[in-house]
Amino acid sequence: MPPSLQLGPYTVIALADGEGPFFSPRREAFPGATADQWAAADRFDPGALDADGRWWLRFRAFAVRSDRGVTLVDAGIGPADGPAASWAPVPGALPASLAAAGIDPADVDTVVLTHLHTDHVGWAVVGGERARPYFPNAAYLLQRAEAEALDRINPQLRSAVLDPLRAADRLRLLDGDAPLRGGGRVLATPGHTPGHQSVLVDAGRDRVAVTGDLLVHAVQLLHPELAYAHEMDAERARVSRERLLRGPAAGTLHLATPHLTEPFLAHRPARPAV
Ligand SMILES: [Zn+2]
Repeated sequence: MPPSLQLGPYTVIALADGEGPFFSPRREAFPGATADQWAAADRFDPGALDADGRWWLRFRAFAVRSDRGVTLVDAGIGPADGPAASWAPVPGALPASLAAAGIDPADVDTVVLTHLHTDHVGWAVVGGERARPYFPNAAYLLQRAEAEALDRINPQLRSAVLDPLRAADRLRLLDGDAPLRGGGRVLATPGHTPGHQSVLVDAGRDRVAVTGDLLVHAVQLLHPELAYAHEMDAERARVSRERLLRGPAAGTLHLATPHLTEPFLAHRPARPAV
């Protein structure tokens, strides 16, 4: 069974898809980070630095399971011929991770695509020329702002992902926050891309946020003000990140992130200064 977090009636399951080095030096990816900030981030997440000094990323999706259904958050790097093949360590292992969790693709009723980067939509659609949704019974949720910005984000995903989802009548466009059928809700967290979204599941005082790329490295968890070079609007991304991480002071906010070494992190929001 893959790593999971139980929160009230919800089981959040981390689904590994792959791991590998980032394509450019990490100091270019976070140009504002200081030597002290890197040192703190490396103590916090030593697995994100390989022996050659490269940023080592995990690639994972998450499932949120309850008696109301199965929601998948993101769809990984995908198969060997998927759109992430030019840079990510394909083929991904998501099908095996789903099987280990006891989830058949047909059981997934909702797929939340946090954003239209290739390492988050890899398994959304498969089959090459005969493209079909990999999760045949799922509604695929995407922010309308993301779909409308596709040409600026990644035009290749029109024919690879959006057109096949539309043809199968599986694409649902959202305008901001929205409840999820299986529980929890989608939160609009723009900045990384224009229509980036995350998922928040509440169980009493404790919550879990499946962040997507709201933060991509521990250096942005320890220092949420730090921009990542591939954020399309770094200022909006910072506001979205700080808003989520600050949250209410009571309870624990669990973070479920796609790219950090540990799939789950318990985050205690700093209490406001008095
Ligand atoms: Zn990513």
